[in-house]
Amino acid sequence: MSASHGDVVVIGAGLIGLAIAFELAERGASVRVYDRGEPARAASWAGAGMLAPYSESIGNAVLLELCAGSLREYPVFVERVRDASGIDPRLHLDGVLHAWFDEDRREEFVAPDAAAGVAAEVLDRAGVIALEPWLGAHVAGGVFVRGEGHVDNRRLGRALVTACKARGVTISQTSTIHIECDARRVRGVGTDLGFVAAASAINACGAWAAQLSGVPSACIPPVTPVKGQMLALAAPADFVRHATWLSGAYLVPREDGRLLVGATVEAAGFDERVTAGGLQRLLEAALTSAPALGSFAVTESWAGLRPGTPDGLPFLGPTAIDGLLLATGHYRNGILLAPITARLIADAVESGGAGELLQPFLLERANAEEAAARRISHA
Ligand SMILES: Cc1cc2nc3c(=O)[nH]c(=O)nc-3n(C[C@H](O)[C@H](O)[C@H](O)COP(=O)(O)OP(=O)(O)OC[C@H]3O[C@@H](n4cnc5c(N)ncnc54)[C@H](O)[C@@H]3O)c2cc1C
Repeated sequence: MSASHGDVVVIGAGLIGLAIAFELAERGASVRVYDRGEPARAASWAGAGMLAPYSESIGNAVLLELCAGSLREYPVFVERVRDASGIDPRLHLDGVLHAWFDEDRREEFVAPDAAAGVAAEVLDRAGVIALEPWLGAHVAGGVFVRGEGHVDNRRLGRALVTACKARGVTISQTSTIHIECDARRVRGVGTDLGFVAAASAINACGAWAAQLSGVPSACIPPVTPVKGQMLALAAPADFVRHATWLSGAYLVPREDGRLLVGATVEAAGFDERVTAGGLQRLLEAALTSAPALGSFAVTESWAGLRPGTPDGLPFLGPTAIDGLLLATGHYRNGILLAPITARLIADAVESGGAGELLQPFLLERANAEEAAARRISHA
């Protein structure tokens, strides 16, 4: 990247902001990341790390293509981060099982595109049990999606922080941050540590992206928090071999012996408490499907805030203010979407515009919908 593009400031050190900073720094840009808290925490730490666009049954074709594209980019992305950091994020693309418990109620399933390197195989009860014996009590059948999987998102976060630093990115904690722009373009950011000039500023503030100070109203993304609670069980090694969707919950095995059980989906504002009701719902769903899990110790519980958007699509790319870009609203798929988001946003910073792939994800769509709603209410 040529020096004339100037410095880049990324606000928000979740997986999205860090992946963008890493990508830009590898391309030669000078990048500063600011967060008001610890990097790689928030939703990026709280998530389950599932990389499963097909098992997630993403209905929107454009979003599904974006997610499938990011899944294809994951192995190389992880390799680059591992090379730069020396930390292995533990990527497993060994398949995701989608189990069902009533033969008459086979879940709707979006058939994977073989070209995406993902293939789905319908299994009968015996086939599922051969794969995951602990499902023996009630399972009726399932679909095994080869090529999907999971990553240890907490390790990926730590790896990205180290990788960013190794590539010259500065990551600073600041209790206040304020975007400064004139009528046309971004000038920089004001922080506790003073004013920092920047040619580009990227709002990667996750569920808090609508609250970033100093952003002109036309550039505020309508992002709202969607709470998710999870818990971890201590399971014997290889008890659960693959990430598995049950009825009302999913399980993700970690190499450190934790078995993650997720996740609730709640409209609860910015409340990040773990509640008795949330844990009850998760445990009930998991144990109804698989009573064999009932004897394991509960070792951890936590909650996080997904960045939700009105239409379920993220906001990615340039805004009406030159140099001010968005990378937020990834809702349930921000860990999966980190590699492709980083690449597309770095392209947009370099070119100063939005390529074809970014068009469906620009903020303009929300502003157009809002204007149409205003016209209808005044009619
Ligand atoms: C329970 C749960 C399970 C999930 N499971 C999965 C999954 O299996 N697969 C998947 O792909 N995704 C999953 N997700 C979604 C995924 O975690 C998110 O989409 C993703 O982490 C969003 O990343 P982010 O970097 O945009 O936001 P975050 O990780 O939330 O980071 C945003 C950062 O911005 C900072 N910030 C905010 N405002 C400011 C400000 N004004 N100034 C400075 N800093 C600011 C915050 O401190 C934070 O560090 C899950 C989420 C949850 C909660």
